Amino acid sequence: MITKQPASSLPTKTPKCRYDASASKSSSKTTLLEIYFANALPPVGLSSLVESLLDSRVYSHYQSLPDPTDKVLATYIWIGGSGEDLRSKTKVLTDFKDKVELKDLPVWNYDGSSTKQAPGRDSEVYLNPVRIFKDPFRRGKNILVLCEACLPDGKLTPIPTNTRRHCVDVMNRAKSNKPWFGIEQEYTLFHLDDANRPLGWPKNGYPGQQGPYYCSVGAENAFGRRIVESHLKACLYAGVTMSGCNGEVMPGQWEYQVGPCEGILSGDHLWVSRYIMQRVCEDFGVRVTFDPKPIPGDWNGAGCHTNFSTLQMREENGYTEIKNAIKRLEAKHDEHISVYGEGNERRLTGKHETAPITKFSAGVANRGASIRIPRTTAFEKKGYFEDRRPASNMDPYKVTAKLVQTAVLDE
Ligand code: ADP
Ligand code: MN
Ligand code: MN
Ligand code: MN
Repeated sequence: MITKQPASSLPTKTPKCRYDASASKSSSKTTLLEIYFANALPPVGLSSLVESLLDSRVYSHYQSLPDPTDKVLATYIWIGGSGEDLRSKTKVLTDFKDKVELKDLPVWNYDGSSTKQAPGRDSEVYLNPVRIFKDPFRRGKNILVLCEACLPDGKLTPIPTNTRRHCVDVMNRAKSNKPWFGIEQEYTLFHLDDANRPLGWPKNGYPGQQGPYYCSVGAENAFGRRIVESHLKACLYAGVTMSGCNGEVMPGQWEYQVGPCEGILSGDHLWVSRYIMQRVCEDFGVRVTFDPKPIPGDWNGAGCHTNFSTLQMREENGYTEIKNAIKRLEAKHDEHISVYGEGNERRLTGKHETAPITKFSAGVANRGASIRIPRTTAFEKKGYFEDRRPASNMDPYKVTAKLVQTAVLDE
């Protein structure tokens, strides 16, 4: 399964690579580990000895074993107790010959005491499957299953951290308005073995100041593109509605956009896109964070600009409705900020293309405003607007529900 050079054909001087364990040793005896390292391709992004031992060529042997024809591997995904952490576990579904549908998927459970979602003495939380995606990791007919976390009360009552159920209710009430969302998810990549060092940053100190990195190309500007590309492909394969991706202003920071998605689909697709991002980063041995201000000081934070429109806004003279919606948003600024993400006050400072957290503002093409009206919308007198306030770690179920409650339902 694996072809490795025999020890005798090794060059007398072991080639140096980042993971060369023999480099600092004087012993002339070649160990198995040294043979291993001499033959290993430098694993991209893998940062510690332990992880690089999980050789991708060994792994690919097992991965290439054929899938059983009558089984589907379903990865049940849910949101944990912090409201930001994603969890998952696999269920082997038997006797499935064709495509799996939601009605085929059993309710499952997990230990809520390990995710800060239930007490130890009554720890079961139920997983209620709500949306199926193709599994870009296992491929074949295997699936990712987004789930709601529910009480084991026989009625699937949502647990307190299940914010989706409220969002579904709001979206149902606004169905005829056809609310669309396009969410710009920003995120920052960090070296796994250096908690304070974004990808591409020097070991000690700072990179050159912001300017060349936004939408950049070139090895000296763009750090982590393999993750970006892998994530985009994996999301498209899975069936996530992606509309693009780009490098961001701070080096090591990137963005992708999910949407436009209607109603509850927006939150569902964004959460699954985050799950896929974490899995891709895990494969590359890189840490991804959705913290809104991962590096303090004169560096851009990370947001989740939420572009929004209703049917009325998209039709002739929709601009009137857009302006009315913005007025309603102004009146509820503080309420919105309270559900727009933890730590957002570190990001919404009034600098770095943000408006101050305490002050609502709106403007055409203004990236220093709370709400930006795209120039095309102002010109065509219809379209959408962009709420620039949500932080990168926001819960899209809370944000999309709040937008619809304020801007559409006026409640
Ligand atoms: P920016 O110029 O702020 O960087 P992006 O191109 O990153 O904007 O993101 C714009 C987002 O708006 C995309 O996700 C896109 O799908 C979404 N979008 C486009 N039209 C609409 C619309 N009518 N309603 C809601 N979202 C929309
Ligand atoms: Mn953008
Ligand atoms: Mn951006
Ligand atoms: Mn934007």
